[in-house]
Amino acid sequence: MKNTIQLDQTAACDCGAVTLSARGQVVSMFQCGCKNCQKVSGSGHSSVVLMPADAISVVGATKTFVRPADSGATFTRHFCPECGTTLFAHSSRAPAFRILLAGLFAGANDWYRPNQLIFSRHHPVWDLIEAALPRYETYRPEKPA
Ligand SMILES: [Zn+2]
Ligand SMILES: [Zn+2]
Repeated sequence: MKNTIQLDQTAACDCGAVTLSARGQVVSMFQCGCKNCQKVSGSGHSSVVLMPADAISVVGATKTFVRPADSGATFTRHFCPECGTTLFAHSSRAPAFRILLAGLFAGANDWYRPNQLIFSRHHPVWDLIEAALPRYETYRPEKPA
């Protein structure tokens, strides 16, 4: 499935110290039900927007948290040191991309259209997801191009 959504949006963290601009074509949009996303989102999944690294610019200092992912890659989350809001993340598995959360654009994210649920093996049944959405136990077999 090819997304043709173009973003040109700026969003701020909860306290306003850091802003992020996303300008360019969305590569993919999906829900992730992994345990880390559950902790970070406070829900049963996170709503992910994948964009090219050069489409993202950040103003203000962020702190990073790096953790090993199940795949053996390292996953780095960039967050505001004042309020803790996640601005973006990236994985060593896909260094050309940046991982954003749709909720960062709260109030201005009607464009969000997830095309799959990944890590469905950890996704809790109480967190309702569109029944027609394709589900994958871990990652979708082929990586986004
Ligand atoms: Zn902040
Ligand atoms: Zn996840």
